[in-house]
Amino acid sequence: MNVKVNFDRLKNDIQTLAEIGKSPDRGIYRMAFSPGDIEARKWLITLINKANLESRVDSAGNIFAKLTGADDSKSWIIGSHIDTVPAGGHLDGSLGVLCGIEVLRSLLEINYKPKNSIEVVAFTDEEGRFGGLFGSEAFIGELTPERIHNAIDLSGISITDAMLEIGLHSMDALDAKRNPQTIAGYIELHIEQGPILDLSKIPIGIVEDITGLFKWQVRLTGTANHAGTTPMNMRKDAFQGLAEFSLEIPRILEEIGSEKSVATIGRVSLFPGSANTVPGRVDFSLDVRDTSSEVLQALSDSFRKTISAIARRRGLMFDFEVLSSVTPAASDPKILSAIENACNRQKVKYIKMSSGAAHDAQIMARVTNMGMIFVPSKNGRSHSPAEWTPWEDIQIGADILLETIQELTK
Ligand SMILES: [Zn+2]
Repeated sequence: MNVKVNFDRLKNDIQTLAEIGKSPDRGIYRMAFSPGDIEARKWLITLINKANLESRVDSAGNIFAKLTGADDSKSWIIGSHIDTVPAGGHLDGSLGVLCGIEVLRSLLEINYKPKNSIEVVAFTDEEGRFGGLFGSEAFIGELTPERIHNAIDLSGISITDAMLEIGLHSMDALDAKRNPQTIAGYIELHIEQGPILDLSKIPIGIVEDITGLFKWQVRLTGTANHAGTTPMNMRKDAFQGLAEFSLEIPRILEEIGSEKSVATIGRVSLFPGSANTVPGRVDFSLDVRDTSSEVLQALSDSFRKTISAIARRRGLMFDFEVLSSVTPAASDPKILSAIENACNRQKVKYIKMSSGAAHDAQIMARVTNMGMIFVPSKNGRSHSPAEWTPWEDIQIGADILLETIQELTK
């Protein structure tokens, strides 16, 4: 198994796709079903056809390339996305899809006949113009009519209208569900989007797990009052409640969390919001992440109790709303060891790590075995035109993906 990808061909594809949807500010604008995304979709389908691979678009707009195996009843799936955030970079998502296509082309050239079929998929709206992870949720059958109905972008355009641009009917996305029995496993190659690999000068990260999270919108309500005439001991100051809670966060993480736990208050609104009024109300967000469901549950209990105790002591009312909650996903040991073996055979340095960002892989893990390969992000930058991975690391990542999929399908 010493076949390598055709790196010049891969590099050329990456550079070509990077020009689609690029604006003068150097950012790429390929939000799902935007003109840039539609152009990239056409380009990708042409690329697949030119490579003599089977191409297909499902009813959720997911684009597939396929190399048929000896047993076509199941496929290994290599996936990611080609949509971007506004002013995004050229590698987030695209790298995984293009490395996947290059792997299929390389295997086709050596007349490799995989045991099971291998498919590459570019999932629709991973980045969230319409909420995010739309294509992978459709694929595993988790879409609902309400979700489709509520999928509206920031400017008020519905996914229904956006999909019509390429002749797709949004409600048909409910039919994109794939029978899990036909999926052998899922692999995603992605840029790390964090600084760990770059700082440690290691080209490959083998993802052991993807963090789960819960996100709350919290409200503490006290009494708004005159900042001059209300004595300190007669105040019900909502901000003081938040301030006290925020200082408890490191202690709670240390006592109840794991070394992977993180918690962030990223948005705070004070009411009435005037310099000479005691704030009678504070609304704030709380985003908490960890790779273990049990740890997340324990953290959730502890955060709730702590805020509640602070509120009681300070005469505040406490309520909160769960904005989102995503369960963590663990990688499959067999896929992990296939990636590890490929690294060892190719004498490539790697570390095992967690993914702090959500990916289509997390959705796929709900129905099948999943594994992820990370390559370094220069200075940890992503979702920005500063996104960069050295070409030699991209080459290493593509070769590791190629050898991993061969091991899994031999
Ligand atoms: Zn991505």
